[in-house]
Amino acid sequence: MESSPAATVSAGPGPGPSPADLLRRLRARGAGDPVTHVERVPARAGVPAPWPSWAPVELRAAFARRGVVAPWQHQAEAANLAYGGEHVVVATGTASGKSLAYQLPALATLLADPRATVLYLAPTKALAADQLRAVAALDLEGVRPACYDGDTPRAEREWIRRHSRFVLTNPDMLHHGILPGHAQWAGFLRRLAYVVIDECHTYRGVFGSHVAHVLRRLRRQCARFGATPVFVLASATSGDPATAAGRLTGLPVTAVTEDASPRGGVTFALWEPPLLPPDSGSPTPVPPQATGDHDDLHQVRRSALRETADLLADTVAEGVRTLAFVRSRKGAEVVAANARRSLDDAVPGLGDRVAAYRGGYLREERRELERALLHGDLLGLASTNALELGVDLVGLDAVLICGYPGTRASLWQQAGRAGRSGQEALAVLVARDDPLDTYLVHHPEAIFGAPVEATVLDPANPYVLAPQLACAAVEAPLTPADLALFGDGAKEAIDELVAAGALRQRPTGWYWRHRERPEVDLRGEGGAPVAVVESATGRLLGTVDGGSSHFLLHPGAVYLHQGVSYVVDDLDLADGCALVHTEEPDWSTHARDVTDLSVVSVRSYVDAGPVGMFLGEVDVTSQVVSYQRRRIATGEVIDTRPLDLPTRELRTVAVWFTLSPQSLAAAGVQAADVPGALHAAEHAAIGLLPLMATCDRWDIGGLSTAVHQDTEAPTVFVYDGHPGGAGFAERAYRTASAWLRATRDAIAECGCETGCPSCVQSPKCGNGNNPLSKPDAVRVLDVVLANLPE
Ligand SMILES: [Zn+2]
Ligand SMILES: [Zn+2]
Repeated sequence: MESSPAATVSAGPGPGPSPADLLRRLRARGAGDPVTHVERVPARAGVPAPWPSWAPVELRAAFARRGVVAPWQHQAEAANLAYGGEHVVVATGTASGKSLAYQLPALATLLADPRATVLYLAPTKALAADQLRAVAALDLEGVRPACYDGDTPRAEREWIRRHSRFVLTNPDMLHHGILPGHAQWAGFLRRLAYVVIDECHTYRGVFGSHVAHVLRRLRRQCARFGATPVFVLASATSGDPATAAGRLTGLPVTAVTEDASPRGGVTFALWEPPLLPPDSGSPTPVPPQATGDHDDLHQVRRSALRETADLLADTVAEGVRTLAFVRSRKGAEVVAANARRSLDDAVPGLGDRVAAYRGGYLREERRELERALLHGDLLGLASTNALELGVDLVGLDAVLICGYPGTRASLWQQAGRAGRSGQEALAVLVARDDPLDTYLVHHPEAIFGAPVEATVLDPANPYVLAPQLACAAVEAPLTPADLALFGDGAKEAIDELVAAGALRQRPTGWYWRHRERPEVDLRGEGGAPVAVVESATGRLLGTVDGGSSHFLLHPGAVYLHQGVSYVVDDLDLADGCALVHTEEPDWSTHARDVTDLSVVSVRSYVDAGPVGMFLGEVDVTSQVVSYQRRRIATGEVIDTRPLDLPTRELRTVAVWFTLSPQSLAAAGVQAADVPGALHAAEHAAIGLLPLMATCDRWDIGGLSTAVHQDTEAPTVFVYDGHPGGAGFAERAYRTASAWLRATRDAIAECGCETGCPSCVQSPKCGNGNNPLSKPDAVRVLDVVLANLPE
């Protein structure tokens, strides 16, 4: 979502301390200096460009009425490329006005050609609604913009299909509604000039791979009607946006990445909470599932939640309007409650000026909180990332980010909330006790330098390709000419669909054989989702994807939903439901599994003497066999209870490396320490992969062993946790030396002695983080890096 350029709020309290002064006071508060780096992101003057000569006067006037006097350089450049017929992705910062880059060529075309149409896709309905408001406000004759999604009344749908020339929708509606009903859309698709894909970096992993094929199906239908629309994509800044956009659309895409919009200066501090004295226990009694924190591991740093709460209290006490981003609702509430308490201790009543903000609030309640913050009645707000999409709250004096939000795009989106026009602002990233966060606060170049993480998807995933080809075949029989459109693996997938009796080959192509359409969920994650039902009321609380259900919903598991604690009574896998009751025990539960992995095929490899690096398909067999109950406050293990759950099979893509036993011995790793060395390297490597690819460590699995039956050598495997792979392992393979270099540095630079959650311990380890050898993990990675070509 981009309202161009972002309106900042001028109302509110007067100027407080300067960001530099404020930061000085915050860091002087405790013993030692928690700040590892301060980056001055300077204010930037915008670089305007003239209106393109092809932009009609009428359109320029309409933009001028909305306050846009002239485009910025990057907007004009992208618009010119698109108008010239090139597919283009504009990948620039938050509030840089990306929407003008596509509105300009799209609307100019609609005005010049009274028959042309435009299709706009947003990842959420809320975004599409925002864009609709923006386009409608231009009040251009004959454009008739309209949203077409699940909420559109039946009565209006036909009118939209026939008369709207700027249709705003989402990939799900395109997949479930528009493409299957292409006959009714023939008039619209025949005249389709532009396809706009907003926030295209959100199409990643398995979901992104599905969307890539939905777009190929769209291109195929357009081609049948003789249309070849130009694709214009808008992305947050990321590594290699042209390649990602090319994979998403299947087309050659030119990237525009030079941001020419103006911005206010920001003082950006990286903050690492101090190490706690040994055996001081866990200070923040919050269940780990609720916060994403892992208090169950022996915590050696002060928790990021506690640190953020103190910072929030301090900035509010200084009269500074502050927004704190926290990863979970429960976490946001803990931060707000702790900040309120310290403020009330200092000045009774001051705590009232801090609140928590959750995505679940009603629209009116959210608007009221926004209003209170913008007018200064409220000074501090702790929020989940729900703010990121769809809510316009900018112009804060300080932003606190509790834990790296996972991608640079999210980080800048959150930091971008700081800064009023002409005023400097403060942003603080508070590191969580986690390898990636720790690495980032010690490697500011990974945040402030050129982005390395790329939006990753894998359209060749057979688990995505086959169902998508089935959908395409229903829309029109597949022909040999379609094979190139759907890309690598399309022929194999069609052959399998024929063998399975889903398609029939005739001289004119492959035909869908069934009466019903295939049921394909774009967000499907392998295996039917499991419904979580409250026994007493029959209320459906939510769903958990099949892959995670054994871990999260086994009998006895403590399950958290919107901050409320439940305990699972029964997991019925046949019916796909788990029965739960509300209960708030003082322990958390942690499933243990046993995993076996076999190599199916090798796609690509690098032979580097004693070291081998591989990419290929693997079969992963895992079984959740028991769970531990641990006291929330102390992390103490109460007991381990057995479970009786079936094994699960996963065919996926993995990256793995092998080392010769001789090279390990030469590096000083004793034979007995090899398992702990590999295991520690595996954990840290999984923790650092999100630096290279837009994934979460929970998307990835790993296995390490001193000798593997297929490689016959000490091996570390890292695999995509999604059937067929999601592109993460492939990206790891392509960037192996940079990825493992960061992994090595993260371990070596951690201040702990024997390994901690900031380096080699993992919150999701199926073996209870045992064995682990931190120094030997560094030796292992040194051997790999010394041999692997850059
Ligand atoms: Zn450590
Ligand atoms: Zn492990």
